[in-house]
Amino acid sequence: MPVGYAISYAVGNVKFTALGDRVLVKEDDFRSGYDCTACNKSGRVTCAACGGSGKSKVVTHAKCSDCGGAGNVACAACNGKGALLYIPENSERRPTSGEIVSLGPDCTKLSLGQSVIYSNFAGHAMDIDNIVLRILHESEIYLIVDGHLEMSRLRSKSDVTTI
Ligand SMILES: [Zn+2]
Ligand SMILES: [Zn+2]
Repeated sequence: MPVGYAISYAVGNVKFTALGDRVLVKEDDFRSGYDCTACNKSGRVTCAACGGSGKSKVVTHAKCSDCGGAGNVACAACNGKGALLYIPENSERRPTSGEIVSLGPDCTKLSLGQSVIYSNFAGHAMDIDNIVLRILHESEIYLIVDGHLEMSRLRSKSDVTTI
């Protein structure tokens, strides 16, 4: 049975409505795996020259010349960005996941709020306010996922079952 009517999704005061057999997916925050651990996402690290005090160790009452008195400097690992935006090619090629937030009236298999997996190269992605929305045809969705994708919790093979 087709959904029969369009279900919209709003970001702030902007509303998105999937048409036809299209779905709108809010992508999972895949960048979290690329957060810079050297600076804990802050983009700044304690200045090594002054140990964070901001004071020169050479000249009394002078500011540390390395950090200009701030006590911290831009993280070298991420260039001060707090995240490593470089995504290895083999990671780009992996499918990605997200949650269905809008459904077109002709969709028949999927429903709102489902977690799904699809190709990283399918559809069109839009960056809006730190979230990524992707427009896909319903047929481009590979899988529906129940539960949360916290693979680190799968400690042993006994946690993986075929239902
Ligand atoms: Zn960093
Ligand atoms: Zn310093």
